[in-house]
Amino acid sequence: MRYQSTRGAAPLLGFRDVTLAGLASDGGLYVPESWPSLTREQIADLAGLSYVETAVRVMLPFVGPDLSEDELRDLCTQAYGRFSHAAVTPLVQLDHQHWLLELFHGPTLAFKDVALQLLGLLFEKFLAGSGDHLTIVGATSGDTGSAAIDAVAGRAGIDIFMLHPKGRVSEVQRRQMTTVLAPNVHNIAIEGSFDDAQALVKAMFNDADFAGRFQVTAVNSINWARLMAQVVYYFYAAVRLGAPDKPVAFAVPTGNFGDVFAGYVAAKMGLPIARLIVATNVNDILHRALSTGDYSTGTVTPTAAPSMDIQVSSNFERLLADLAGAPVADQMRGFEAARAMQLTNAQRDGAAALFASDRIDADAMNEAMRWGFTQAGEVLDPHSAIGLAAARRADLPADVPVVTLATAHSAKFAEAVERATGLRPPVPARVGDLHERQERYDVLPATFEAITAYIAERATPRQ
Ligand SMILES: *Cc1c(COP(=O)(O)O)cnc(C)c1O
Repeated sequence: MRYQSTRGAAPLLGFRDVTLAGLASDGGLYVPESWPSLTREQIADLAGLSYVETAVRVMLPFVGPDLSEDELRDLCTQAYGRFSHAAVTPLVQLDHQHWLLELFHGPTLAFKDVALQLLGLLFEKFLAGSGDHLTIVGATSGDTGSAAIDAVAGRAGIDIFMLHPKGRVSEVQRRQMTTVLAPNVHNIAIEGSFDDAQALVKAMFNDADFAGRFQVTAVNSINWARLMAQVVYYFYAAVRLGAPDKPVAFAVPTGNFGDVFAGYVAAKMGLPIARLIVATNVNDILHRALSTGDYSTGTVTPTAAPSMDIQVSSNFERLLADLAGAPVADQMRGFEAARAMQLTNAQRDGAAALFASDRIDADAMNEAMRWGFTQAGEVLDPHSAIGLAAARRADLPADVPVVTLATAHSAKFAEAVERATGLRPPVPARVGDLHERQERYDVLPATFEAITAYIAERATPRQ
């Protein structure tokens, strides 16, 4: 499998190099040159397989020749062995039509563990014996940071610099990052928003001087390997609800469009998906883009679902390029200059064939949390509740099962859950005594100079 950039001007790379590179050198995102597909029989054969075995079958077409099937199986066994549930991503029934896919049984209680536990192992495997040193630079609205830090803490040859917007992540989220005291972990609270943090990271990747001195890579969902790992649970859930004979719909609480793009990839690979429901909070650029074609940024409004407080969704570029069937360098450069663009008719029609979208405000989110608790005995976090609210409002035939992706454990957002339901979810024992542990992080202004100087002092340059 070879990978090409959405902007068409970066070298084609194999899986190893795409994993280590993160962003493409032309500012675009890497996508497979063509989509592999599973036949109906191959999808039917997934029924009854373990999560690890499903993962091997779904991901194998993407990783050759850099990983053998046995190597991939070994990495998946290690990565998913760290989950606290034997099903890894269990499905829970809510009513006759609605289901929750619980993606939060990993070490840091959010779905990002599903991809990042594997990514940490891929980095280690691909670096082993090369003498290379990797400098991971990431921006987090809360959950990527802790999941990435857990995945690489203490690993040889890797330093991680994680930027989070100061005061805009929950206390549990912050402590999950800042109490990891391994010397290769560097937490930075920037005086700005998540979008500022993400823009700084992009600027570092695009800076020839900085990217020349350090082998920088991304753990945000611009890294292809992350999306690949997330394709697996769409198959895992759908075959349990009747695929390939019956189509299944998914509702996905969305920020950077990574998780829901993985659903699009599953559909491209042949999984019968009736609808992908993109659920946003009041930061609704994706809902506006999908419903009216207007992709224009506003200002970020902080909400109880901070991992979705995003105006620029980096992975949307992958969808736009796929729907255009051509590089989208001009369209994206226009967007970056004007902070606004219109989807083409081909992009709008292509998206409308699979996607629906909805904007869920605080009242609808709280209502979904209460409904989940009183009607199905499930305690949902704010992000998952936004997904469920959109799922329940969607216009779908009654015989199509709707799976809401539950992206975080409710304990990560205990205050918001308590406000809606009156119940304060306890932090699971496996996370340990977060509130007792010492924290370590530095506060920096949101400027390119301040951040790059900080990293240059601490990272290991290329050989
Ligand atoms: C990251 C995150 C999201 C958004 O996922 P994207 O892939 O960025 O769309 C939703 N919910 C939670 C809890 C998250 O951590």
